[in-house]
Amino acid sequence: MLTVRTRVAPSPTGDPHVGTAYIALFNLCFARQHGGQFILRIEDTDQMRSTAESEQKILESLRWLGLSWDEGPDVGGPYGPYRQSERAAIYQQHVQELLERGHAFHCFCSPARLDALRKEQISLGQNPCYDGLCLHLAQNEVVERLASGEPCVIRMKVPQEGVCTIDDLLRGRIEIPWSQIDMQVLMKADGLPTYHLANVVDDHLMQITHVIRGEEWISSAPKHQLLYQYFGWNMPTLCHMPLLRNPDRSKLSKRKNPTSILFYRSMGYLPAALLNYLGRMGWSMPDEREQFSLEDMIREFDLSRVSLGGPVFDVEKLDWLNALWLRSLNPDSLVQAFMDWKFNRPFLDQVLAQCLSRIQRLSDVVPWVGFFFEGLPEIKAEQFAFKKVDAAQSREILFALLWASEQAIAWNSATVEAMCVSLAGHMGFKLRDFMAPVFVAISGRSSSTPVMEAMAIMGADLVRARLRHAIQILGVLSKEEELLVVQKIQE
Ligand code: GLU
Repeated sequence: MLTVRTRVAPSPTGDPHVGTAYIALFNLCFARQHGGQFILRIEDTDQMRSTAESEQKILESLRWLGLSWDEGPDVGGPYGPYRQSERAAIYQQHVQELLERGHAFHCFCSPARLDALRKEQISLGQNPCYDGLCLHLAQNEVVERLASGEPCVIRMKVPQEGVCTIDDLLRGRIEIPWSQIDMQVLMKADGLPTYHLANVVDDHLMQITHVIRGEEWISSAPKHQLLYQYFGWNMPTLCHMPLLRNPDRSKLSKRKNPTSILFYRSMGYLPAALLNYLGRMGWSMPDEREQFSLEDMIREFDLSRVSLGGPVFDVEKLDWLNALWLRSLNPDSLVQAFMDWKFNRPFLDQVLAQCLSRIQRLSDVVPWVGFFFEGLPEIKAEQFAFKKVDAAQSREILFALLWASEQAIAWNSATVEAMCVSLAGHMGFKLRDFMAPVFVAISGRSSSTPVMEAMAIMGADLVRARLRHAIQILGVLSKEEELLVVQKIQE
């Protein structure tokens, strides 16, 4: 009998997203329930955007949630390496196979030509797609141009007519006309694969039997199905899960809801509660029970109970569930959860070092550093009127810092300080004046322990949430206002 093998395949290009945990959870439950294996694969072929920090945070967050994988970049396994950047030779070999069989072709079109083509197609109201200029180049011309070192990509051939049918475990048969499918680039000019090639080759070589992923990938399925056919491989069963949504039903986005798993950890949600909540996204227990553990979910799991109406990720509902979990812990587990959260040696070491020079008694500790343990501080707009900086400038400063913190790759006191100094310079403020609203947004008061160090210790996710919270109190910037600030700080 076929062993079920599922995987989650995050791209390490940002904060560990709750959507990744949601997909990982469903893959894990499906695999475990069938006595199969669950694999973690890192899809880092986008060298510009992938970072080791992001990968490490994804692994840490999934582990914190208790989602454990049988094979992955950290634990190894028989089908490794599990990081795509270490598999370049495998993709090279496979793309050569497609070229030899006539399923792929070299394309020498310059980015400028492709850009002009795209603009023209858009102005004519057409779907932007490659027009096939290089599809029929003579073999000797290709050889010559390659020999001369001209940069090129490799694209897959795609039928021009007819309809592609995709079978989806949840949605049944989906029909997509081939005319909507682009001649996808498989190998970039730098010799690295695109997502599509690497994903198909790896799912096959790693013997994945079921691909359970977000519905945003449905439109890629025809390309993938065609690649499986070109290689002569069986395609795994596809299952596209409904996307998580904001309460206004738009796609879950960090503008409207915190999306980083680490934010939920630093706010003091229990991993079991967050997992439970994610499990309720589009799925329910046969007895409709709201509170259930991962073990319960694995035991009762049934994909056919997934409903397709976009599940809403609602923090208030999560709060309610987290409260239920907190109250259901026995005293030992409750204290343990509290210590795991922030009352542990490594965190206390850092926090006490911040206030030691200011205290005379231990009872002075909380007034100084209580804000390290808060969620979103209670603040009022009136707190943001300073001698040199008014409320309007405060909101620009806070937005600039939020924007910059979202671009930041490394987060420590040196990078936070460099960020603040550079922003203050670009915006024409003295550092002290620039920091005044930041103090209030981060600590809830007008003075505190050194705020840049506090930001480094608290972590980027909580800092961003507090900045957003303060901006909301002062009035959210319009798109135009945001653009003006961003232009100023990029000058
Ligand atoms: N790397 C893709 C992502 O970031 C994986 C999509 C898939 O599961 O095929 O979500």
